[in-house]
Order: sequence, then C-alpha cells, then structure tokens
Amino acid sequence: MSDFNWCHGPECHKKHTVDRVRGVKGSKVLRTRKIKINNYNQGYWYSYFCSQHCYNDFTIKYIDRVIAIAPRTECLETPINDPKKETHTHDYSWGRHSYTTTKIEVDESRQID
Ligand SMILES: [Zn+2]
Repeated sequence: MSDFNWCHGPECHKKHTVDRVRGVKGSKVLRTRKIKINNYNQGYWYSYFCSQHCYNDFTIKYIDRVIAIAPRTECLETPINDPKKETHTHDYSWGRHSYTTTKIEVDESRQID
C-alpha cells in the first residue's frame, strides 16, 4: 500500500499554484497534489483531498453518485424523553441574570440502534 493519495479534486491540476508546477523547462505542467497519509489524516476526507476547495469540487461533480451509495428515502428518528426546560439564575454585583436551557436526552428504553 502506498503512503500517499493523489488529491481527488477533479480540478486540482488546474489550480495555479507554484507547488503544483512540475516537469522540465519547456514542458512544464500543473500536477495534482500528492497527499501524504499520516496518523492525523488516515481515514478522514483530508487524506483524499488537498483542500476544502478540492473536496467541494468533487462533491459538486459526483454528489448524485455518492448519494446513490446510501440513499435516504425516509427520515430517521431518535427516541427522546420529553424535553425539560431549566431556568438558570445567577446573581452578579450588577444584578440578576437568568437564562433557560432545554435538556434533551435519548430515551434508551426505546433506542433501536
Ligand atoms: Zn487538490
């Protein structure tokens, strides 16, 4: 297995940056960037794409095919307990301040997966 991937961005080799310039004088090219695989990017999208821009280019071009891998034809639901509103009040030297949060918890007894 190689320790790098070529960037999968379909336009990567067309971007005008000096790090992409390769070849000998008189026959220079812009080349797709090479991405070294390491402990930080292995298994993540950024081991396949040199930039967010290249990732977006790929997604825009191939989104229909990507979605076809696992199409979502119905919504999914996560069972939860009835949400609880909580009011938090703090007294400061300049006065009382309160805010409300809503606690949302998964109902493990109805959890399917
Ligand atoms: Zn790229």
